[in-house]
Amino acid sequence: AAKAAGRDRYHWFDWPMDKLQEEAMEVRKMTETALDRGRLLLHYQPVVELDNGPVGVEALIRLDHPERGLLPPAAFAGALDAPRLARRIGCFVLDSALTQTQTWHRQGLPLRIAVNISAYHLLDPDFLSDLQTALDAHPDLPASAVEIEITETAPLLNFTRARETLLACNQLGVRIALDDFGTGSASLTYLQKLPAQTIKIDQSFVRDIINDPKDYAIVSGVVTSARLLGLEVIAEGVETAEHAAMLGHLQCHCLQGYAIARPMAPEAIPGWISQYKPLVHQGFSTPPPPR
Ligand code: C2E
Ligand code: MG
Ligand code: MG
Ligand code: MG
Repeated sequence: AAKAAGRDRYHWFDWPMDKLQEEAMEVRKMTETALDRGRLLLHYQPVVELDNGPVGVEALIRLDHPERGLLPPAAFAGALDAPRLARRIGCFVLDSALTQTQTWHRQGLPLRIAVNISAYHLLDPDFLSDLQTALDAHPDLPASAVEIEITETAPLLNFTRARETLLACNQLGVRIALDDFGTGSASLTYLQKLPAQTIKIDQSFVRDIINDPKDYAIVSGVVTSARLLGLEVIAEGVETAEHAAMLGHLQCHCLQGYAIARPMAPEAIPGWISQYKPLVHQGFSTPPPPR
């Protein structure tokens, strides 16, 4: 009878939905434990202007797992978007990124810091006070050096609230970047209606820019629109020098990707910056547009 009950129970828990929920719970537990034990940390990836050099860095979260090593956000994405955890993680990321960047500013490296904000944190009633608290705790870091990156999730969940919150961020002096631009269902509406200073063209459009006339045309159009709107535009996922050259040809001067630098530990940033040579001085030519 006990055996039968056991089999029944197994059967019951074997439903795919239960498994998924269980896995999601495991991920949240793992992430919360990491947060409590100081095992969440930030790596930083440089953003450069093609002609000049580093203008800033993006903070990218990592989980230092005792057995599995350094995990990328894809391994705990569910926790980043869990309503309760999103705020705790967001506050940690804001504080940690601003502390690090204030240190760089004090060392004479006036970098801009871009921080990814989850939709659930942005829409949390306490988000603005969390941001204000982080800014107040770092008096040697101007608010204008801080940029928050948002994806289309937040405005999709609650457009009015997202827009009002972003306007208030601008009022504090904090910049707004539209991350993964072009991948959502309402990119142009968000461009039209949300306050933003930066567009980050998603890597899915940049990847085949050399060979695919469609992607080339799309990136060209986004760059032109951004310029007409007076916005800065950053191409993400720039993986080769050829990509960089093509983007330069399209007047997209801000680049981020493996061709420039991989995300790295904060200690590595000053050394990387001091040895950086602008790509235009590395002697490559612009490839012809694809047809
Ligand atoms: P994202 O904000 O679009 O960040 C860019 C991602 O592309 C990063 O992945 C980066 O490592 C990767 N990347 C950079 N250059 C290249 C390239 O040349 N080729 C390719 N294939 N990939 C490149 P990562 O670090 O795994 O982060 C993934 C996503 O996780 C981020 O996408 C962002 O949406 C989210 N994320 C990262 N850090 C945080 C955080 O602190 N808070 C929240 N809420 N989300 C975060
Ligand atoms: Mg980002
Ligand atoms: Mg992105
Ligand atoms: Mg992305």
